[in-house]
Amino acid sequence: MSASTRKRANVKKVKYIFVTGGVLSSLGKGIAAASIGSLLEGAGLKITILKLDPYINVDPGTMNPFQHGEVYVTDDGAETDLDLGHYERFTSARMTRRNNVTAGRIYYDVLQKEREGEYLGSTVQVIPHITDEIKQRVVAVSHDVDVVICEIGGTVGDIESLPFLEAIRQFRFDVAPRNVLYIHLTLVPYIKTADELKTKPTQHSVQKLREIGIQPDILLCRAEKNLGQDIKKKIALFCNVEREAVINAVDVKSIYQVPLRFYDEGLDKIILEKLGLPYKKPQLEDWLQFNDVLEGTSDVINIAIVGKYVELKESYKSLCEALIHGGVGNSAHVNLIWVSAEDLEKDGGVECLVGCDGILVPGGFGDRGFEGKVNAARYARENKVPYFGICLGLHCAVVEFARNVANLAGAHSTEFQPDNENPIIALMQDQEINGNKGGTMRLGDYPCQLKKDSFAFQAYGQREIKERHRHRYEFNNKYRFELEEAGLRISGISPSGNLVEIIEISDHPWYLAGQFHPEFKSSPRKPHPLFRDFIAHAKEYQATRQS
Ligand code: GLN
Repeated sequence: MSASTRKRANVKKVKYIFVTGGVLSSLGKGIAAASIGSLLEGAGLKITILKLDPYINVDPGTMNPFQHGEVYVTDDGAETDLDLGHYERFTSARMTRRNNVTAGRIYYDVLQKEREGEYLGSTVQVIPHITDEIKQRVVAVSHDVDVVICEIGGTVGDIESLPFLEAIRQFRFDVAPRNVLYIHLTLVPYIKTADELKTKPTQHSVQKLREIGIQPDILLCRAEKNLGQDIKKKIALFCNVEREAVINAVDVKSIYQVPLRFYDEGLDKIILEKLGLPYKKPQLEDWLQFNDVLEGTSDVINIAIVGKYVELKESYKSLCEALIHGGVGNSAHVNLIWVSAEDLEKDGGVECLVGCDGILVPGGFGDRGFEGKVNAARYARENKVPYFGICLGLHCAVVEFARNVANLAGAHSTEFQPDNENPIIALMQDQEINGNKGGTMRLGDYPCQLKKDSFAFQAYGQREIKERHRHRYEFNNKYRFELEEAGLRISGISPSGNLVEIIEISDHPWYLAGQFHPEFKSSPRKPHPLFRDFIAHAKEYQATRQS
């Protein structure tokens, strides 16, 4: 790191918290980092969160959702790791492309610099060139914040995380030890036959960290049972940390209880103390309120999600969370009924939708199950079941409406049928000229103007909104007039008037589809208006059926 970068980091006295993980993956490092952010924010500090991912892909945009879960899209159109979704849902920090950096990106940039002669002929090495590049990425997000929380992906001991761990080891001395904290998330398994919680994996994982020069300051011990004082004492002794710094991260029913649990364990206090920051009790009322409703309600709303990857819920992470938020916004639990779109292509397949209070067709790529999704949209329209279409869910709704209401035979999306006679969904002309297969993706935040008399306006309560996009194909303007004549309400369009953003069916209790992904902007403490209204109408629909 250059002297000037170091100086800048120091002058501002920014504090840095590095969160690493040990023993195994999926312990909830992202939720832990987000919860720490929430506690610090609750205490009045301005925070940001950065995720460093040790894999070689330059970004997660092209990664298979089966392997990597959802691709989370930021306002500035970056395709990022799903943990950034947790960061935004738990805190008010807004993520940008700078908040997710992969090893691939780091190497790519270093190699480019090397080609451009920036290293003046010196031998380019992991230390210092790769590690310097990593450290610069950490400092790059530190402007205007009090604390940077940096999550290191992967598990300690992985070959590929080594340069990242080395970089954060060096970092402590670059910005002075009092400004840096290492928090390690580990597993304390419960062994049934011995009826004991075992500390050995934690000891080994901390040893591994210490071998590379990092002594964790705080341990978050994930366990299915409460750690007794004796276990905490043992972990403290063997891992060389203070007893108060052994935090019990016990399994909880909902991820939204984690900030409260961490607070009960005194995590905020010990973090502030170790960073030399004055203690302030965090505001947690809204978390308490949210969890009270979630725990206390017995109302259940059944929502069918008709998708392609229904076996892998991780690829619909933000969507599931947004539905939970929308439920709590209506004092209800949302029961997700996963419906494989292909099943709806069989004769009588849509029968499985009977009994659902609302139908949601989420975003997607690829033609598998497309006709099943079209059938779901038709079922919702004809049976007046609340329908919420997201991105591809809009394409299905429009195709269905064109075919069955506007009598446009065989209407289709050119994504799946390029030579169709009624290409109701297609690439825009400028995208086609691009020559790029499938055109360029529309990514990130775009403005949209709402028609006053619409479900959308009722939900948002304002004329102009901004929502995040991740798609190529659009509503084909050639058919606008014809479909409107047939009863489709185009309730949201881009300010230029060129892009259809929201469609509705007015002669329906609630049928709305958007070209964007509202799930990326929902948070527990501020449910997204469309999810809130969708669930409200599903609740109403349930009540009318029951009466
Ligand atoms: N596959 C469609 C497109 O590219 C929809 C994408 C999505 O649902 N995110 O336009």
